Amino acid sequence: MNRFDEEKAVVLCPSATTIGPSSKVFGVLTGTPEAGFQVAYLTEAVPATPQLLEAIAPAKPTELLRVASPCVEHACQHFDGANCQLGKRIATMLDPAVATLPRCAIRPRCRWFSQEGPAACRRCPLVATEQRNPNELQRTVAGRE
Ligand code: SF4
Repeated sequence: MNRFDEEKAVVLCPSATTIGPSSKVFGVLTGTPEAGFQVAYLTEAVPATPQLLEAIAPAKPTELLRVASPCVEHACQHFDGANCQLGKRIATMLDPAVATLPRCAIRPRCRWFSQEGPAACRRCPLVATEQRNPNELQRTVAGRE
């Protein structure tokens, strides 16, 4: 397998909290905490460079961006040995945000889509990786009970 094929085979976490050299930004949160927010999906995922992350300061990348990084499986609290429980909670506990699947640059390698299918994508626009004042449902979905 060459490097290109290896990259294509890596499963991506679509709500990464650890951002490294292989991380890519694929969405930006729009809206306000008061009015609610939705993720706007980029037509192409772009590298999460230090320059890009500095440009959005003082906002934290996890508050403003959706970043994809290689899924770390057993090193993540949401991985149960086979599946991402965060993706499962999102797909089963939230109401759909959209009827039509967002145009998403990482879908072929997304952990949530490969596991939960379109149900995850219909709710994905409602996901902020980090929220300052999550409500009870958001806390439960995030596994922060
Ligand atoms: S769940 Fe769907 S919309 Fe969200 S990142 Fe994965 S493929 Fe994209």
